[in-house]
Amino acid sequence: MKYVIIGSGVAGIAAIEAIRYVDSASPITLIGDDPYGFYSRPGLAYYLTGELHDKALFPRTAEDFRRLDFRYVKGKVTRILRAEHMLELGDQSQLSYDRLLIAVGAQAIPLEVPGAGLEGVLKLDHMSDAKLILKHARRGRTAVVIGGGITALELVEGLRSRGMKVHYLLRGDRYWSNVLDEHESKIIEHRLREEGVTLHHHAEIIELIGRNGKITGARLSDGKILNCDLLTYAIGIHPRVALAKEAGLDVDRGILVNEYLQTNDPDIFAAGDVAQVHDPLSGRSILDSLWAPARQQGYSAGLNMAGKKTAYLKAPPFNVTRLAGLTTTIIGTVGRGRDDDLVGIARGDSETWRQLPECIVAQTGFEVNRLRLLVGERTMLGAIVIGDQKLSFPLERIISDKVDISPIREKLLAPNARIGDVIAEFWSAGNSRN
Ligand SMILES: Cc1cc2nc3c(=O)[nH]c(=O)nc-3n(C[C@H](O)[C@H](O)[C@H](O)COP(=O)(O)OP(=O)(O)OC[C@H]3O[C@@H](n4cnc5c(N)ncnc54)[C@H](O)[C@@H]3O)c2cc1C
Repeated sequence: MKYVIIGSGVAGIAAIEAIRYVDSASPITLIGDDPYGFYSRPGLAYYLTGELHDKALFPRTAEDFRRLDFRYVKGKVTRILRAEHMLELGDQSQLSYDRLLIAVGAQAIPLEVPGAGLEGVLKLDHMSDAKLILKHARRGRTAVVIGGGITALELVEGLRSRGMKVHYLLRGDRYWSNVLDEHESKIIEHRLREEGVTLHHHAEIIELIGRNGKITGARLSDGKILNCDLLTYAIGIHPRVALAKEAGLDVDRGILVNEYLQTNDPDIFAAGDVAQVHDPLSGRSILDSLWAPARQQGYSAGLNMAGKKTAYLKAPPFNVTRLAGLTTTIIGTVGRGRDDDLVGIARGDSETWRQLPECIVAQTGFEVNRLRLLVGERTMLGAIVIGDQKLSFPLERIISDKVDISPIREKLLAPNARIGDVIAEFWSAGNSRN
C-alpha cells in the first residue's frame, strides 16, 4: 500500500502517526509546500509578541520524524489525477498513490480593496508571513489592523509589543460580537485602550494609499485617512478546496467527507481545516478551523487509510486563547452568530456556535474574571471563562460528557446566583464524574 499525504500541517503529521501505528512497513510520502515544514500555527501569535523564539514552534524533532519513517517531498501538488491514482507537482513531476490524504488547510481571505497589492499589506497564515510582519514592524512606526476575531487581536498585540502605534479597525460596534457578549467585548476593548491601542468602530477601508509601491495610509469610508507603514488583516479563512474541486470531489465550503474522513472517492481522504466532516450526532456537515480537531481528524483519517475503520466523533468546541492578555476558554456554544458579521469568524470560531438551540444565559463577573454559562434544559451547552481558569476543566467535562445538571439548574438560574461557586461545589461533590 502506497500512502501519500498532501500538507505538512498538524492533520498531515497526525495521519502519518496513525498510519504507522497500524502499518509499520508500507511507504508513506508527505508533500508540503511550506518551507518551514510542520510548526505550531497557534504559536505564531507568541512569536509575534516575542514571547517565543521561532525555534520553540516546532513540536517534533528530526528524531521523531526519523522514527515515523516517511519520505518528505518539498513541493506543491497542482493536480490530482484520480483515474490514474497520480499526483502532479509544481515542478511537473508525478507521484502515484494507493491512498491519498488531502490535508492542505485553509488560507486567509484576501483583502479586496484598491491598493491591497502594496508592499506592507500583510496577512498571517504561515511562519513566513509572521517573519515578514516582524521585518516591517522593525522598520515602521504605525500599523493598521483589520478583522474582528482572535487572529486580528493577535496581530494587534504582536505589533503593540513591538512598539508600533496600532489603529485597530472594527467593522461593527464591538469586538467579536458573534462570540462574546457586550460586557466581554467591553472588557477586551478597555484593556486594548489601556495598552495604547486606538480603536475605530464601524470602520471600513475603501482604499489603501501608497508611495513607490509601499503602503503609506488607509482611506476609510468616512473620508478619514490613517497614515501607516504596515497594514495587517485577518478577515476570515477559506478552506483550500481548489485541488479537490478540480479533481471532481464533492465540495461544499470544505471537502465533504463522511465520519471516516473519506471523500466520495474511496481512496481519497481529507482532514483538518480543509475538510467538512459529517457529524453523525447532529446530522450536519461541519467545518472546524481549530488545531485540536485538525489533529484528531488527521489521526482518524490515518487509521482509516490503513484499514482500521474508526469513526471521527466531533467533540464540543474547546478553545483556549488569550484576548488582550486575558486567558479565555471557550467551550461548546457560547454566542449567537450573525450572518452579517463574517469578520468575526476569522480563527478559532466554530460552526456550532452559530447553531444555538434556545437556552438561558447565566452570568457573573467583574473586571477581569468572568464566567458565562449557557444552560440548557438538562445539560450545560457552553461556557466562556475569562481570567481565572479554575473552572475551565470542570466545565469542559460537564459540557463534553453532557452531565445532567438538573440538581443545580435552579440554583444557577436564581437571581444573583454565585454561579462559579455552584459549579465548583457540584464538581467537587463528584456529581459530575460518572
Ligand atoms: C495565526 C494563527 C493562529 C491560530 N490560533 C489558533 C488557536 O489559538 N487555537 C486553535 O485551535 N487554532 C488556531 N489556529 C488554527 C489552527 O492552526 C489550524 O486549525 C490548524 O493548523 C489546521 O491544521 P491543518 O493541518 O488542517 O492545516 P494547516 O496547518 O494549514 O496545514 C496545511 C499545509 O498544507 C500546505 N499546502 C497547502 N496546499 C498545498 C499543496 N497544493 N501542496 C502541498 N502543500 C500544500 C500548507 O502550506 C500548509 O503547510 C490558528 C491559525 C493561525 C494561522
